[in-house]
Amino acid sequence: MGKVIPKVELLRHTYNAEEIVAMAAKLCYSDADIETIQKGVEKKDQGKYIKMLVEMGHMSVIEHVSFTFGIEGVSRSFLAQATRHRLASFSVKSQRYVGQVKAAGETFNYVIPPQIEALGKEAVKEYENQMKTLQQWYNGWVDRLGDAGESTYEDARFVLPNSAETKMILTMNARELRHFFSIRCCNRAQWEIRDVAWQMLKLCKESARELFENAGPGCVGGKCTEGSKSCMKQKEVRERAGKL
Ligand SMILES: Cc1cc2nc3c(=O)[nH]c(=O)nc-3n(C[C@H](O)[C@H](O)[C@H](O)COP(=O)(O)OP(=O)(O)OC[C@H]3O[C@@H](n4cnc5c(N)ncnc54)[C@H](O)[C@@H]3O)c2cc1C
Repeated sequence: MGKVIPKVELLRHTYNAEEIVAMAAKLCYSDADIETIQKGVEKKDQGKYIKMLVEMGHMSVIEHVSFTFGIEGVSRSFLAQATRHRLASFSVKSQRYVGQVKAAGETFNYVIPPQIEALGKEAVKEYENQMKTLQQWYNGWVDRLGDAGESTYEDARFVLPNSAETKMILTMNARELRHFFSIRCCNRAQWEIRDVAWQMLKLCKESARELFENAGPGCVGGKCTEGSKSCMKQKEVRERAGKL
């Protein structure tokens, strides 16, 4: 297939996520017992509880709910960055069990950085040819190593580049998501993880708006935290978040 682009789906999330968080908040800040809590919290009061928690910084309460995403069309470079988030859970397509041998003229799936695409057709052609060469190297090593499945692929994959596509299922709780959005939706983050983070933020807002109110880079809910490295585009960033 060759070129791919980042695609994110929200596969599942905690059922009634905002109500669970509001129930936990009600338990903390009222004398209600579990029987009362179990009856739930009315929709109109859920947002009030969540807002209070976030403003107080009582963020452990939003850890009770989690969101699971399917992500594809991303590079191994994205994988290296995403997996630095220690409170997330990952299942990643294996380069060891899933071989990448392709017929002549075909290549493994890969990501092209937009800045390389912006250089024009010739630059893209050169990049595509480089991917073809890497594919030939990969096929060559699989042949020489005896095409024995995982024990072959685990070594042949060493010649595959950072651009090679990976797919993953990723789960984060709402607290970790808000943290992830604060640093990865920021213009200081690298373009690919930033693109995925904004797609994730949109999906979160569509399914649990109150929980992700003001989520995004620091400048969305307050001041920019990037100091001298600030992009100085707070207005633009706030508008983008406001439209989600
Ligand atoms: C713009 C940008 C540039 C970067 N550049 C580099 C780079 O050059 N080199 C590099 O190596 N990395 C780099 N990183 C990655 C960065 O250092 C973090 O590893 C990554 O962003 C994960 O963030 P985190 O540790 O805050 O989050 P998570 O692992 O998601 O953890 C969430 C929060 O939990 C708490 N926490 C988690 N684990 C611990 C712990 N062991 N002890 C105490 N508190 C903990 C912290 O409060 C943390 O913020 C960069 C990230 C960004 C956004």
